[in-house]
Amino acid sequence: MKILVTGGAGYIGSHTCKALALAGHEPIVYDNLSSGRRKLVRWGDFVHGDIRDTIALAGAMRAHAVDGVIHFAALADVGQSVSDPESYYSVNVAGSLSVLRAMRQTGVQSIVVSGSYSVHGQPDGIPIREDLPLLPQNPYARTKVVMEQMLADFGHAYGLRSAVLRYANAAGDDADGECGELHNPEHHLIPRLLMAAAGRIPALRIFGNDYPTEDGTCVRDYIHVTDLAEAHVSALGHLAAHDGPLVLNLGSGSGYSVKSIISEAETVLGRKIPHEWAPRRPGDPAWLVADPARAKAVIGWQARHSSLANILATAAAWHARAGFGGD
Ligand code: UDP
Repeated sequence: MKILVTGGAGYIGSHTCKALALAGHEPIVYDNLSSGRRKLVRWGDFVHGDIRDTIALAGAMRAHAVDGVIHFAALADVGQSVSDPESYYSVNVAGSLSVLRAMRQTGVQSIVVSGSYSVHGQPDGIPIREDLPLLPQNPYARTKVVMEQMLADFGHAYGLRSAVLRYANAAGDDADGECGELHNPEHHLIPRLLMAAAGRIPALRIFGNDYPTEDGTCVRDYIHVTDLAEAHVSALGHLAAHDGPLVLNLGSGSGYSVKSIISEAETVLGRKIPHEWAPRRPGDPAWLVADPARAKAVIGWQARHSSLANILATAAAWHARAGFGGD
């Protein structure tokens, strides 16, 4: 199949293009390079464009005779969404609507989109299932809820087939070193930890040591980006044979605290990670772990690459070669 991948020059997008190509599909990357990188477009053609440009999108869908869409292009910084909600509603809501319009205009019926388990708010202590209530706590999460609702409504009215994949914490990098994480600025735990190990920052700041968890630091479910990429390919295959809307959580089902990640990283890297305590980061839930049972039952997906050791080893290898996003 020919698949238009919005945001295909980004972190999860580039890994998904590789997974599509490995599965015999042809990705066409559609990206405005606002945060994506041209050098991460290594599989399939590249179209430079903004998702809010419906004419350009529909033109790309027609020119490449696409069979389906994977939609990653979005803004994804919670703090920024609070200070600049207009941009978030513009890109994540109006942009997603533009993608759906272009699909209707060109007769493309199937779409897989990036969701987030932040749509549930802060369900500390409960593995997150798809049917928990939607209680978004910030503009970013609200834009994701609106997008999910648009997909369901387009499904009922126009027969659109959609799958929303709500991710746990994406981490790790391509084992072959062909693509990887390059955010600028970089806020995520594992690259920040590697920056501290490499002496690029004086120390990793651990946000909060008084959470109601075993060691006082926040617990998250870290899922290898290659596992996420494979899930998109499986979801597309599922949509070819089933009506939507489908909503699936993608996680490993296991939680790791910040402190346990530091100690595993010290083992994997064979060196100390300088770290210091810092105040809690506003809005951080204590404990977020996804229940991936439905993804296994419905699309036969489960995490295969997401051991903490593999996440850390692939991330360390990638950043040693490619640097960090700000380079
Ligand atoms: N974290 C931290 N120091 C950092 C970055 C992150 O202690 O420099 C913590 C953060 O508070 C959260 C976990 O690591 O508990 C994962 O954060 P990240 O930003 O990677 O992902 P999020 O869970 O916010 O999506």
